Amino acid sequence: MKDDNCIFCKIANGEIPSKTIFEDEKFRVILDLGPATKGHALILPKDHYANIYELPEKTAADVFVLAKRMAADMTDKLGCDGFNVVQNNGEAAGQTVFHFHMHLIPRYDNDGQKIGWKPSEPSQEELEEIRAQIAD
Ligand code: AMP
Ligand code: ZN
Repeated sequence: MKDDNCIFCKIANGEIPSKTIFEDEKFRVILDLGPATKGHALILPKDHYANIYELPEKTAADVFVLAKRMAADMTDKLGCDGFNVVQNNGEAAGQTVFHFHMHLIPRYDNDGQKIGWKPSEPSQEELEEIRAQIAD
């Protein structure tokens, strides 16, 4: 399950070199080339899935277990003060490479980065309408 036109398929499977910090039979974890902070890394499945919608549930579970282990190990080794786990799906959500990946972003006190959103202020009625739209 590889896509010949996908750069992350080539990186994940070792056809293009990368700064690899972890590898097993299913995943490769590499340093991001445009890091938000020191140690910013990406978990790449070796199989091609464009996004979370295509990701099999078993792979999704494995990704998060690996993210947890990497967070502990990287925090230990880098001495970071916090940690963001970020995952974008679709252009509207900021995805730029369409091979599923999970960002591991070590955070440091006063690192000057901002990962977040501008909060809005919906009414209780608006929240209820949305709740009813989503909940079964
Ligand atoms: P996203 O915007 O969630 O799709 O994230 C794509 C990420 O991949 C960005 O943080 C880029 O800096 C990073 N990136 C793009 N190409 C490469 C590459 N060849 N090696 C490592 N990181 C890359
Ligand atoms: Zn791919």
